[in-house]
Amino acid sequence: MSTEKHPKGLYLIFATSTAERFSYYGMRAIFILFLTQALLMDKETAASIYGSYTGLVYLTPLIGGYIADKYWGIRRSVFWGAVMMSVGQFLMFFSASCLDAQSLSRMLMYGGLTFLILGNGLFKPTVSSVVGQLYKPGDQRLDSAYTIFYMGVNVGSFLAPLVCGYFGETGNPHDFKWGFLIAAIVTILTVVLFETQKNKYLIGPDGEPLGVIPDAKKGHPAPTAKQASAPRNKHQARNYGILGALTLALAILFYQCFDGDWISVGIFTACIVFPVSILLDGSLTKIERDRIFVIYIIAFFVIFFWAAYEQAGASLTLFASEQTDRSIFGWEMPASWIQSFNPFFVVILAAVMPGVWGFLHKRGMEPSSPTKQAIGLLLLSIGYLVICIGVKDLQPGVKVGLVWLTALYFIHTMGEIALSPIGLSMVNKLTPIRFASLMMGIWYLSTATANKFAGILGGLYPEEGKTKALFGYSIETMYDFFMVFVIMSAAASLILFLLTKKLQKMMHGVE
Ligand code: GLN
Repeated sequence: MSTEKHPKGLYLIFATSTAERFSYYGMRAIFILFLTQALLMDKETAASIYGSYTGLVYLTPLIGGYIADKYWGIRRSVFWGAVMMSVGQFLMFFSASCLDAQSLSRMLMYGGLTFLILGNGLFKPTVSSVVGQLYKPGDQRLDSAYTIFYMGVNVGSFLAPLVCGYFGETGNPHDFKWGFLIAAIVTILTVVLFETQKNKYLIGPDGEPLGVIPDAKKGHPAPTAKQASAPRNKHQARNYGILGALTLALAILFYQCFDGDWISVGIFTACIVFPVSILLDGSLTKIERDRIFVIYIIAFFVIFFWAAYEQAGASLTLFASEQTDRSIFGWEMPASWIQSFNPFFVVILAAVMPGVWGFLHKRGMEPSSPTKQAIGLLLLSIGYLVICIGVKDLQPGVKVGLVWLTALYFIHTMGEIALSPIGLSMVNKLTPIRFASLMMGIWYLSTATANKFAGILGGLYPEEGKTKALFGYSIETMYDFFMVFVIMSAAASLILFLLTKKLQKMMHGVE
């Protein structure tokens, strides 16, 4: 990984993402409290709305990616994505401003979520793919560029819960609106920043403006009359037939598996149908197809990473609140603050890691992208192993020190830095430009699936008087619970390590 100077456009994307992620995580930090304390929902309903929201937010990048590649181009998609998110955040503000009319307030809240979900779908895959387009194919700086981009994402993620939480979560339900208003204003700033600076900074390596025309039109001449004739139409009709039948069969299957939960049905069906739809595209060469396969295989393993990692928002926060001694010199740290540890560590490690990879690169020892993904999974497993030591033989009612969760988050963040930005960079390197944003959408689909999966695994959190088990392994203590994640991520990491040689071959020269 190179540590050379980067194009200015990267810093525009850095700032835009900082602002956008600030509003996303700021709203998210107070959302579940708003549902329970202001809209007076029970915990189960609130958790289910929260889970559906975080799942759908990562499902829509598929649609946004498709629209950007085919019709709108990146600039227009980023702009409309940010505008829609601003509308969503303002609807949340209005919802929290009319708590006395509960049914109106709930309606506005659902409207707000819809705009946020659709806006994120347009914004997230497109800003993620434009980073790579600032560089020439094969540019050594790409991993480092994505790590810097990831730092921007986490500057926003770190500050937002502190600021929106401070103004919104005061104990008075009427104050939630201030948290949402701050998120809304920052989203407007995102729009203004992007719109006023894009012409100046979003320039490709060839000096041409970036993201103006859809990627599908780049380097891909319009079909001649001959190409567009009958056989092509027949081919397309066959593909639509296959995809339609597959969608129907999977929807029925998942409907049975998930007891009619339509959001899970949608996520898991999309997770198979969209990747297949790209493979059916007749324009793919053998090399392109191989490279896309690599993305799919790695995206599958990455699901296990995020499913274990995303315990942070739920089971690990419960553990922080119920079984961790959070007092520091007589002051008790709020459990929710521990969620800021991760973005804080990301910002620090993102500054260090390009140097580490660069050091290894010079000595010919830098691991390949698939190996870095396997390292990420291994570090996740080690993080859970460390906390297993902390909770082993813990007597009921006794709390563990804050050092254990701090160590877990630090090790997980090292894993995240090896896996997440490098994964984005890898997707960019392996994808033909005409599918650039759509493939980012597919990559984010593993986060959507993982969020759903994380909820199922989080349900194994030990509770007195309830028997919980996974494939015959009974979970009675925190040690048993954390062990599930140790084993799951170690197994995924090991298999991925074993596959790396084969995957590298299928990458055909891309590192
Ligand atoms: N923190 C990252 C972000 O918000 C996580 C992305 C992901 O793939 N889960 O962009």
